[in-house]
Amino acid sequence: MSKLQYVQDYLENNQLELAIFSDPSSIYYLTGYHADPHERHMFLFVMPDHEPLLFLPALDVERARATVSFPVTGYMDSENPWKIIQASLPNKAFKTIGAEFDNMNLTRYHGLQSIFNQPFSDITPLINTMKLIKSRDEIEKMFIAGEFADKAMQVGFDNISLNVTETDIIAQIEFEMKKQGISKMSFDTMVLTGNNAANPHGIPATNKIENNALLLFDLGVETLGYTSDMTRTIAVGQPDQFKKDIYNLCLEAHMAAVEMIKPGVTAGEIDYAARSVIEKSGYGEYFNHRLGHGLGMSVHEFPSIMEGNDLVIQEGMCFSVEPGIYIPGKVGVRIEDCGHVTENGFNVFTKTPKELLYFEG
Ligand code: MN
Ligand code: MN
Repeated sequence: MSKLQYVQDYLENNQLELAIFSDPSSIYYLTGYHADPHERHMFLFVMPDHEPLLFLPALDVERARATVSFPVTGYMDSENPWKIIQASLPNKAFKTIGAEFDNMNLTRYHGLQSIFNQPFSDITPLINTMKLIKSRDEIEKMFIAGEFADKAMQVGFDNISLNVTETDIIAQIEFEMKKQGISKMSFDTMVLTGNNAANPHGIPATNKIENNALLLFDLGVETLGYTSDMTRTIAVGQPDQFKKDIYNLCLEAHMAAVEMIKPGVTAGEIDYAARSVIEKSGYGEYFNHRLGHGLGMSVHEFPSIMEGNDLVIQEGMCFSVEPGIYIPGKVGVRIEDCGHVTENGFNVFTKTPKELLYFEG
């Protein structure tokens, strides 16, 4: 069954007359058409008993029509998009309407309300559930994205020097990936030296790479529509014993989680496996984020691997395992791999070693 047919059946079974998708990654997932409309509007309208409608900026119409086999309507910047949507949909009063809440800003909401004038119910859970279990074909693409992340990480390692800055290394990584045909990193590459790595969302800048310190790389690529996401923290010179101990504690936590993942455990139990290792050593307060997140066509998607999430893990789910320990002013470590749940375990997409690697500055 096609994904759109699946949505149509869902609408039928849930007495919904219309579904409105606006997240570009959901539209890509459902139709194969990929575009970022930026502040312009793109919507996929799905009805149980009628063919879908893809509505987008006029400049994208030609490429969309070459991709999808159902009606596509465009609007010019100077036109009123809401009137065109109204004229393009079947002429009926839709009474029960589902919409993706997560990507719905107020401009879009009010524009759509000017046509429909009905409350929307949230169909984010439907699309989340559809994306949750990856097919073999999707997993193969995620392995390819993982392979490129390994290559990108190696480029980073090859460019470590005390004479360069964080952003110098990022430039080398992204330059090399573009030369290999990767048009987009899946998020802004992070290279963080010393105390800058002690901030879980530190911002790379013109800091020179520190000697006898840890250096954190967090990167991923987008290829064939799928993303990768990996973090490694390595040693430059000879960091002191405390830094090495924190690294090894983080690795122990990472492995404790990876080793217990299999169908039947819950997301919360996986988080706890890693977190309890760090808590027992007294550093629990410095691991201040969830253990992981789903990924696929987007680098962050459902589910969260976190405390309190009773979601039961199933074969085909793909997510990250990324414990971190960030002690301000002292040390920051994160070790991240993404993988897919197999029949009896967890198979990671990236192969870069996880034991502490040493580099000369
Ligand atoms: Mn991640
Ligand atoms: Mn990451």
